[in-house]
Formats: sequence, structure tokens, C-alpha cells
Amino acid sequence: ILITLEGIDGAGKTTVARMLRKRFPDFVFTREPTDGPLGEMARRASGFEQLFLFMADHANHLRSCILPSINSGEVVVSDRYIDSRVAYQGALLRRTISMEWIYELHRPWSLMPDLTLLFRIDPSVALMRCKNRGATSIFEMEALLRDVSGNFEILASREPERFVIINAEREISEVAERAASEIERFIQQ
Ligand code: C5P
Ligand code: MG
Repeated sequence: ILITLEGIDGAGKTTVARMLRKRFPDFVFTREPTDGPLGEMARRASGFEQLFLFMADHANHLRSCILPSINSGEVVVSDRYIDSRVAYQGALLRRTISMEWIYELHRPWSLMPDLTLLFRIDPSVALMRCKNRGATSIFEMEALLRDVSGNFEILASREPERFVIINAEREISEVAERAASEIERFIQQ
């Protein structure tokens, strides 16, 4: 089973993942972009160079971590996955390519998640949470996060059976609790 955590910067995905790790010690927790060389390169790149580095990082992550874990029956939880590329690069590259196109780039060879928890938060609230992370320009960042947030909403409305939306504006322990119960419910069915 593959479960992904999605949402804009500052939504609390990483913090919640850390809490879920304690709750589900047998699960494999991972993230994209990875901490490997391709993931690190992708974080520093931009434009199409960035999209293809993220894709390469994903291919590597899939082969080295996700698929072996899934094939041995593990439950895998990934902090960001395909939908982040569709939403972020779909926003950043929207004058050149559509979200559908980025999605199609993955479809023939990648693995879709079984469950995606979308952490929904207003971009201005999210931005306040990650001010201290050193964003380049707050205005630029807020405009981008609005576009990305809108893209996530579109993705969720297209696949309502895969997505569960979580109100990420609540206190982090509540958000983690909600995430845990959605995961438990999904695993048990
Ligand atoms: O999830 P994490 O904070 O590690 O992501 C690193 C950065 O890369 C974030 O600032 C996020 O906005 C950005 N990102 C991106 N496109 C993706 C995934 C992440 O621009 N597909
Ligand atoms: Mg994070």
C-alpha cells in the first residue's frame, strides 16, 4: 500500500510524518524530493531542468525504495510524491505544459498512490508558518503557493476516491490525529 502526503509548503506534512512514524513504527516513511544527489540537485534547479531532475529523482526513488518496499508487502508513506510535481511544476511551467502533460509523463512507468492525504491550508497561513525557512520573495512565494494550492484542489476533485482532504489549519496534533485515523481506516478496509 502506498500512501502519500501532499499540500503546499508550510502545511505541516513533514511534522505530521514525524508523528505518524511513532504511531506506525512498521511503516516505511520516505519523501520526495529525496535527500539523495538527484533530489538535492532538483531543489537547486529551475524550469524544465528542475522538472526532469525531479523526475529522475522519482525514478531512482521508485526503483531503490518504493517498489522494493511495496513488493515485500510494506505500507509506504511518502511526504510528497507525483501530485507535487503535477501541482508545482504544473504551476511553474504552466505557459509551456499542462498538468495533464506532467501526469502523463509519469503514467506509463510510475506507481500511483492508493491513498493521498491532501493537507489543505490557506497559502497566507502556510506562508506565516514557513517565513523562517528563508523564502526568496514573500510575494512571489505567496502567488506561487496560491497557484499550487489551486492545482492540488483540481487534482483532488478529479480523483475523489483517492484523495482525502485534511484541514491543516488546525493545531498540528489534531492534524496528525486526523491523518492517523484516515490511514487506519484505509488500511482496515
Ligand atoms: O517538501 P520539501 O520542503 O522538502 O520540498 C523542498 C522544496 O521544493 C519546497 O520548497 C517545495 O516548494 C519545492 N518543490 C517544488 N516542486 C516539487 C516538489 C517540491 O518546487 N515537485
Ligand atoms: Mg516538508
